[in-house]
Amino acid sequence: MNAWIEKGKEVMMPTYAPAPIVIDQASGCMVTDVEGNEYLDFVAGIAVNSLGGSHPKLVEALQDQVAKCLHVSNLYWTAPSIEAAEKLVKASGLDQAFFCNSGAEAVEGAIKLARKIGSDDRYEIIAMKQSFHGRTFAAMSATGQFKYQKGFAPMVPGIVHVPFMDVDAVKEATNEKTVAVLFEVIQGEGGIHPVTKEYYQAIRDWCKAKGLMMIIDEVQTGNGRTGSYFAYQQFGERPDILATAKGLGGGVPIGAVLATKEAASHFKPGDHATTFGGNSLATRAVETVLTVMEEENILENVQAMGQYLKEKLLNLKTDHLVEVRGMGLMLGAEFDIPVAPICQGCQDKGLLLVGAGEKVMRFVPPLVVGKKEIDDMIAILQEVMDA
Ligand SMILES: *Cc1c(COP(=O)(O)O)cnc(C)c1O
Repeated sequence: MNAWIEKGKEVMMPTYAPAPIVIDQASGCMVTDVEGNEYLDFVAGIAVNSLGGSHPKLVEALQDQVAKCLHVSNLYWTAPSIEAAEKLVKASGLDQAFFCNSGAEAVEGAIKLARKIGSDDRYEIIAMKQSFHGRTFAAMSATGQFKYQKGFAPMVPGIVHVPFMDVDAVKEATNEKTVAVLFEVIQGEGGIHPVTKEYYQAIRDWCKAKGLMMIIDEVQTGNGRTGSYFAYQQFGERPDILATAKGLGGGVPIGAVLATKEAASHFKPGDHATTFGGNSLATRAVETVLTVMEEENILENVQAMGQYLKEKLLNLKTDHLVEVRGMGLMLGAEFDIPVAPICQGCQDKGLLLVGAGEKVMRFVPPLVVGKKEIDDMIAILQEVMDA
């Protein structure tokens, strides 16, 4: 394993600081490293591997697609992209989809669509402090945490940040140049902070009254993660524009901008594009994930297991737990101590966990997780907390 890591450090840019584990295989909620050590996986590739590792139906569909056709470009139509879009707009309650390749790109697309609607007169985007929207330039500029922007100035102009969950701050920041309000329904990287229904509806009403685009970033909360296809469906009326990615392709890289027909109609041929976006392999994955979610009642599992996991976390025997937040299988446990050493201790005992900020432990297992895996995870976590 060390030979792999040494070589990796030589040939890969030092943008990451990976744990010293070289993962080779994944099956359900377990991953195996190159030496055959097994880990219980409560990271799921950062809320990506919604069906867990090597789900038989996803494997079968992708193998079939690889043999048939990988990529076409958007110069031509393909059946997998149309089928994926049809299923996705139905699941999301929006009308039309644009496929891209990542979360950041979905946010970029959403911002571009809003600015196209503003047609150079209105361009200002109101975004939230403590938010996270990705690492490309507009997405990074929209991100309300300076640590992600440091060293990369100047940021894309025309984005203002207001305190999260403060309706009056949004109203005060609105002016004749404003075109959109952008927020996460649950701030993910910012520490698992959900909005309230009242806040959601107040922003929805304000955007409607002022003719602003309401853009929600469901890159992490989307695709069943919170117990509904999209988290907003538990909060109220649909947004105008929605960005998603992470779990969308069950591990195959793909993102999407979803919008109402009215909003989407402002994009004309040539306005926005991507070479890879929505290719046959990636959209076959989307279509298959959505089919499996329905066939295997995965949303019900997320609701039941999310509730079970939340109860288990609240029953941890420790004086350090402050709060458990989140919805479905996107939960955060805040402690009054840094969580990195606890995550490290869990990793040494064969459990993968990731933080969301210094004192928040994040739980985003595959959506197919069962009681047994949750019990096993809690047992390891308790053992580490006791030590
Ligand atoms: C992960 C994430 C992104 C960025 O997605 P990438 O695929 O890493 O570009 C954007 N917004 C939210 C809310 C995210 O969680």
